[in-house]
Amino acid sequence: MNKVLIIGAGGVGSVVAHKCAMNNDVFGEIMLASRTKAKCDKIAAEIREMHGVEIKTAQVDADIVAETVILIKQFQPKMLINVALPYQDLTLMEACLATGIHYLDTANYEPKDVAKFEYSWQWAYQERFKEAGLMALLGCGFDPGVTQVFTAYANKHYFDEMHYLDIIDCNAGDHGKAFATNFNPEINIREITQPGRYWENGEWVEIEAMSIHKPIDYPGIGPKESYVLYHEELESLVKHFPTLKRARFWMTFGQAYITHLNVLENVGMTSIAPINFKGIDIVPLEFLKAVLPAPDTLGENYSGQTSIGCQIKGIQNGEEKTYYVWNNCDHAETYREVRGQAVSYTTGVPAMIGAMLMLTNPEWMQPGVWNTEQLNPDPFMEKLNEHGLPWHEKVNVELPHEYPA
Ligand code: NDP
Repeated sequence: MNKVLIIGAGGVGSVVAHKCAMNNDVFGEIMLASRTKAKCDKIAAEIREMHGVEIKTAQVDADIVAETVILIKQFQPKMLINVALPYQDLTLMEACLATGIHYLDTANYEPKDVAKFEYSWQWAYQERFKEAGLMALLGCGFDPGVTQVFTAYANKHYFDEMHYLDIIDCNAGDHGKAFATNFNPEINIREITQPGRYWENGEWVEIEAMSIHKPIDYPGIGPKESYVLYHEELESLVKHFPTLKRARFWMTFGQAYITHLNVLENVGMTSIAPINFKGIDIVPLEFLKAVLPAPDTLGENYSGQTSIGCQIKGIQNGEEKTYYVWNNCDHAETYREVRGQAVSYTTGVPAMIGAMLMLTNPEWMQPGVWNTEQLNPDPFMEKLNEHGLPWHEKVNVELPHEYPA
């Protein structure tokens, strides 16, 4: 019987726990552990009530390898799903190596004191995982995660060479709050306040944060102002698909969101440099997180949809070709199914699917450290349709971006 340990009981952790419980023919025994056990217990009670499945819960500080090792030795899972924060990636990979279990996460490592994220730290574990006969699957949420599976699927079935890639991510939902982030506020704000970056002609082009933007027409939603950001999957995609001449990531933001963010930035509330307040060192961004709504509390009255996809241009059989593949996900529907909003859902479902494939499909269980685009995309694409994230595709349509630039 497959046992799985899920670490992190926030918006995403809750969806992963629900979805694993709904597939307990694969995930025979489930434990949800996090820093605050009460959050795990609340999710466990919901799962019991909604799906009639019992899951175990525990308290753990995933920053401490020895503590996680003790928990793993007690529960003896086959793999660990890390949906805590990117800060815990390396300690959790160490704990997996120390106990001989497989690893999966949804966001690449980021040190707490520098707003910088890249795969180098985790790719450095390649040999150790390989030698131990263990697998680490990195960034298996939606973006990163499904966006690379989409790209790998396009590459496999539609192109001899991909040249231009635009990942377009829209959240056209309304949660009724003046300002909130859809996933962990600290990680989200660190991501969007740093300079933007995209890949062009073999090098990274750096731009001022949010300085390139235009309306993009999203299916079923309409045109929404979208901004070029640096997003972590660009790093692995340009490495694994070297024919790409340009790769960009676009995300929508409403004007009210940007105005709030500008004010918070201008007054220093998004800074990660500690300040002394009444004798205690506090990090302004950590304090801001404490006063903002938590992502797992947004679901109840959330309406509208997300739409995330990949638009690609390249050549096949010597002819130019375009391809667009996307998923739309409805906040209210995901809340009804698993009590989570669509951003948590679109992250948690692919994490469950990645774990399911690792446990059941030998092609997807390979020793070493992997990004999702390196494995066969077909079984993953099938499972997206089966587990709540159906996708759509269009071949040779006019794409709303100028190609080439
Ligand atoms: P939340 O802030 O809602 O949840 C994070 C959870 O991790 C909380 O339960 C928190 O505990 C727990 N946690 C934090 N530190 C520790 C620790 N040291 N030990 C144990 N548990 C800890 O975030 P989300 O659920 O929104 O996001 C989870 C992850 O998913 C993040 O890494 C995020 O970057 C990633 N993500 C990936 C996406 C993708 O598409 N790939 C999209 C969205 C998110 P406590 O409750 O005590 O604070």
